[in-house]
Amino acid sequence: MRQDKGRLVIVSGPSGAGKSTVISRVSQMRTDIRFSVSVTTRAPRENEREGVDYYFRTPEQFYEMVKADAFLEHAEYTGASYGTPAAPVEKDLEEGYSVILDIEVQGAAQVMDKRSDAVTVFLCPPSLEELERRLRGRGTDSDEKIRERLTAAHREYGQAHNYDYIIINDNADTAVRQLDAIITAEKCRSNIVLEGDSLI
Ligand code: ADP
Ligand code: 5GP
Repeated sequence: MRQDKGRLVIVSGPSGAGKSTVISRVSQMRTDIRFSVSVTTRAPRENEREGVDYYFRTPEQFYEMVKADAFLEHAEYTGASYGTPAAPVEKDLEEGYSVILDIEVQGAAQVMDKRSDAVTVFLCPPSLEELERRLRGRGTDSDEKIRERLTAAHREYGQAHNYDYIIINDNADTAVRQLDAIITAEKCRSNIVLEGDSLI
């Protein structure tokens, strides 16, 4: 009987809700999880690093990856393409790690269709006013991009009911504890631990 099998964990939620903040803190706390680094065609932000936050690619390079069927899922979001490379996710899961995907709702729906065992978490801010404050406070997006992201947030909220868990990221420490607890609990699920085996 084993309790060291990893889970595929999807975290979605409006841009600015605090997904990156919470995921990176949980990743630092645990040695059993890996973050899935996505490919995007959007420009890097000042503090973002190639291969750590994203793989930054041209639209042509992105399209080549689509044609090569290299993505577990991919989607358009506020004028840019985003995709999850499939191979690293499979490799990390095979090695026993849980893998966290920070992806928007259309991509999440694609993964839910392919992987019924995925654990899904919708992380949202306490209010839309606070979301706007966080997007402005982050200082990484133009006024126009912030408006687009707030419009997208309305659509994204409509999908929250499709997720297994909802985390309201009011206090970041609490949200970190909640995501950590969800991963721990999901690794203890009987169907995951037993896997055709019995307890004795
Ligand atoms: P996302 O990855 O969902 O787009 P970020 O993690 O970049 O969001 O967070 C957006 C902004 O909100 C950042 O400036 C971050 O420091 C801030 N933030 C994150 N969580 C909280 C929180 N619980 N309370 C206040 N500010 C937060
Ligand atoms: P940002 O540009 O703020 O980093 O991300 C914008 C949105 O794209 C966020 O909702 C984020 O979760 C989502 N995103 C990041 N990577 C991927 C990905 O690989 N696939 C999909 N579908 N969405 C992604």
